Amino acid sequence: MAKVMAEYIWLDGYRPTPSPRSKTKVLDQEALEFRGLPDWGFDGSSTEQAEGKASDCLLRPVRAIKDPVRGAPHLLVLCEVFNPDGSVHPSNTRAALRLAADAYAHEQALFGIEQEYTMFRGLTPLAWPAAGTPAPQGPYYCGVGADKIYGRQLAEAHLTSCLEAGLTIAGINSEVMPGQWEFQVGPLAPLPAADELWLGRWLLQRLGEEHGITVSFAPKPVLGDWNGAGAHTNFSTRAMREPGGLRLIEEACRRLREVHLEHIAVYGAGNEQRLTGAHETCAIGEFRYAVSDRGASIRIPMFTAKDGSGYLEDRRPAANMDPYQVCARLLQTVCGEAKVGSPRGALSLLVR
Ligand code: ADP
Ligand code: MN
Ligand code: MN
Ligand code: MN
Repeated sequence: MAKVMAEYIWLDGYRPTPSPRSKTKVLDQEALEFRGLPDWGFDGSSTEQAEGKASDCLLRPVRAIKDPVRGAPHLLVLCEVFNPDGSVHPSNTRAALRLAADAYAHEQALFGIEQEYTMFRGLTPLAWPAAGTPAPQGPYYCGVGADKIYGRQLAEAHLTSCLEAGLTIAGINSEVMPGQWEFQVGPLAPLPAADELWLGRWLLQRLGEEHGITVSFAPKPVLGDWNGAGAHTNFSTRAMREPGGLRLIEEACRRLREVHLEHIAVYGAGNEQRLTGAHETCAIGEFRYAVSDRGASIRIPMFTAKDGSGYLEDRRPAANMDPYQVCARLLQTVCGEAKVGSPRGALSLLVR
């Protein structure tokens, strides 16, 4: 009977930075078609999710995509983690996003997440020579040529695989620091956006194995005059995308100002090393929003300001953030019960 290899993927219990884990379940294709993907279990004592004497945790499939590594008919299966009694496991951050996405479904929110990452070979960034450092930043962002680009093979293989798997990828580009890259997920509704980001990360690290390259999501992989790695989170509601939406984008920025530190708390560990006010960031203790400003906390894209509608870009999240927590927090702040500040017009935004 035909067999399907289903790679069950879940987030471990390491905090503040969870990592994906996975293991393979071999299924009969016929049974799979008849009964769907079964629940499964794992040893939570090896992933900081349980004590050894009560180690079983429950895996429940929530999204399946084609496995581009093994090919058809094999699957990648993203799971949520539950306790044996069926209650939500404390490490399961997706459960809260599920509730928030439901509560604000009428807002028709969209997320587009720019995932930056840095390629390493062993303990050294891919672009680093055996001794010393590469030439200073400048020619690397969106560059071409073997003296400027490191790891394109992996970045390309990852893009191709994501598209084969059916993920919604908006694009890729090489970054300001050599050997640093970005892929963009979305725009998608909250749950698919966050799920696809985790699946995209898993695929990237999995393909890195084939290339002998480790992927780092550290916010500041190399100290000094080298750009950090972020996960800019682009956000809109339906009303923001419609004529006159710019006023709602400004209102969202005012709300975000009120809870800046609450957001920073879930925007990734070590982000203070990245949000310094240099290297296209706003300092972690400040909050500013502005049109086209890559030194602001929130950037309103040029086309959004011109059109009077569109989306905002939250530039604060670090590359190692958990998109379940970031998307839930943005929904809560922007779509939740308002503490409404004094409304200011679009003009004040453009002149600030
Ligand atoms: P940047 O100029 O900041 O590098 P990118 O082109 O890398 O921008 O990323 C822009 C992101 O914005 C993409 O992930 C895209 O999916 C997302 N995006 C586009 N339109 C919307 C929208 N209306 N709502 C939310 N996200 C959006
Ligand atoms: Mn980008
Ligand atoms: Mn970028
Ligand atoms: Mn960006």
